[in-house]
Amino acid sequence: MIPKKSIVHLPVYQPGKPVEEVKRELGLKEVIKLASNENPFGSSEHAKAAIQNEIANISIYPDGGSVQLTAAVAEYLEVNPNQIIFGAGSDEVILMLARAFLSPGDETIMADETFPQYKHNAEIEGATVIEVPLKEGTHDLPAILSKINERTKIVWICNPNNPSGTIVREDELAAFVREVPKHVLIVLDEAYYEYVTDEAYPNSLALLRDNNNVILLRTFSKIYGLASLRIGYGVGHPDVVRSINQVREPFNTTRFAQAAATASIKDIDFLNSCKERNAEGRIYLTEQFARLGLSHFEAHGNFVMVDVKLPSQQVFDGLLRRGIISRARWTYYPTHIRITVGSQAQNESFIKALEEVLSEAAVLG
Ligand SMILES: *Cc1c(COP(=O)(O)O)cnc(C)c1O
Repeated sequence: MIPKKSIVHLPVYQPGKPVEEVKRELGLKEVIKLASNENPFGSSEHAKAAIQNEIANISIYPDGGSVQLTAAVAEYLEVNPNQIIFGAGSDEVILMLARAFLSPGDETIMADETFPQYKHNAEIEGATVIEVPLKEGTHDLPAILSKINERTKIVWICNPNNPSGTIVREDELAAFVREVPKHVLIVLDEAYYEYVTDEAYPNSLALLRDNNNVILLRTFSKIYGLASLRIGYGVGHPDVVRSINQVREPFNTTRFAQAAATASIKDIDFLNSCKERNAEGRIYLTEQFARLGLSHFEAHGNFVMVDVKLPSQQVFDGLLRRGIISRARWTYYPTHIRITVGSQAQNESFIKALEEVLSEAAVLG
């Protein structure tokens, strides 16, 4: 049996290490996972109650069209229901975009480093991936523009960018969208949208109103704290959404996910409280990095990418031995780690562990 040519070179996704596995391997009682940008404050109580209510219905297929959730999100964003598409995480919306729009011979452009699922899914479809290095951790929009040609189908802009945490500003993005030819779909991945506090962050919904070739991706996995339920969405022109719907599996999101997401989008208090506590944690971490003489990329999401000035694997291992799971090993950033903003107690434990790792390295030379 021979699988299709476009997948034979693909690696299998390596997730952040599960907490239980780390505990067992290292004999640690407490382990803090700051590797996957999950919400340290959990999820909305209304979401949990909505899931309880759904238990009675588990033998019945979910609503494939997510009608109630679509209505709730459409009202929240002030868009039409036919502009919204749900996926099993925004990961699945990325997959469906690639499936609907990319064929062998097509080109697709993205930053390097950025979220790996764009490249992964484009390669499965046999499209040619053009990667444009980040410039000081930020999308290099002029360089991306210069790579666009008649074969280009999708440009991916991750804003804030994962892993660097930087944003593309409103003025830059608006100018970019004006320049991009209309045959190119611009995907704005806003998985961390709700965390951004900087006023220069684009109003992408306004951009969407004036440009049919823009689609936004958002998710319930990050600030809403529903990562395990797998639910995210795209917002775009009805024609684009229709194309994605044509490749969508009939029952791609579950009852639990739909119910929890519907409850979550209405729980503004939980959202605001997480946003505020994250902003405080982000300030705490960046102040501590300054105290330790470490530089970091401007952080706008719920994570910070910091230059630890040592091989990142060494720091990753040192932190792991002290019960902290981080992310490391980026090709272009061999001395950076990415750390999720946790609760204040988690952030303090992380900084303490980091100081120990750095001083241990200094002693060992
Ligand atoms: C986490 C993340 C996603 C997707 O998360 P889902 O759980 O699949 O919704 C998408 N894009 C970026 C940049 C992310 O960091």
